[in-house]
Amino acid sequence: MAEFSVQLPGGFLHENRLHRQAVYRPICGEMELFFQEENRKKDSIPGYVTGVLAAALDNIGGIQADPVVVSSLCVADRQYLMLQLASMLEGDVFWMSSSCSSCKSDFDICVRRSDLPVKEAGQGYPFATIKLDGAELVCRIPVGADQEKIERLRDDDALHLLLEHCIEEVNGNAPEEGFVDSLTQTDVGRIDDVLDGVSPSVTTSLLTRCPECEAEQVVELDPYALTVTETNNFYQEIHTLAMVYHWSEQDILRLTRSRRRTYLDLIDRSRGMYG
Ligand SMILES: [Zn+2]
Repeated sequence: MAEFSVQLPGGFLHENRLHRQAVYRPICGEMELFFQEENRKKDSIPGYVTGVLAAALDNIGGIQADPVVVSSLCVADRQYLMLQLASMLEGDVFWMSSSCSSCKSDFDICVRRSDLPVKEAGQGYPFATIKLDGAELVCRIPVGADQEKIERLRDDDALHLLLEHCIEEVNGNAPEEGFVDSLTQTDVGRIDDVLDGVSPSVTTSLLTRCPECEAEQVVELDPYALTVTETNNFYQEIHTLAMVYHWSEQDILRLTRSRRRTYLDLIDRSRGMYG
């Protein structure tokens, strides 16, 4: 399989240059096994996303996509990269089950990952300039590393720490100790609005109608889910190849997914499953 690359909605700032091309490695069995194991033991979602993306990506703009680089990507870039990875692993289309909030009946919704609207970063990304009464701030767009730090905090504490991390300048200088405490609710709202305007985003709320009662429904999609990677099928594939070709597990896991599927296809054909 050829290398697969995508254009990030935000990008990675490195030595004053914004890099937007992210290149994936070809998916092999070892990676799939790693994703499954990470998924099973995940205790931190941002940590899990960093681990998976660092394994799946080769580089961003030619810079090796190690965990430090991957955790310094903005939230929307990480969501976008996980959605693209899910498409590579599971295909573009999948079905989600939901329950109607008015009549409570269950229904399924078909999602095409490539149809999810993506908003690209605005002017100045990854920084935003915010004018408050008597102060001009420069803020950085939140990244994966910020999410990891605030993950276990209460909402108020999380917001406080996030502001401390993301406000880089106040009137051209580093913010003074306690600056965040001096911000009013209105200031915080203003910062949030301006950051939202500059941040890229990936739409993960889907608007649909209940097929039973026609009530409008919002279905939330988990942008980090690699759900359909089925453990059973995976082991079945390894088992079939080992049985037919007598290759070692290690050798089979090193095959790219597409090459593994090619051999499985050949086995199926030689067994007369296809005409
Ligand atoms: Zn309904």
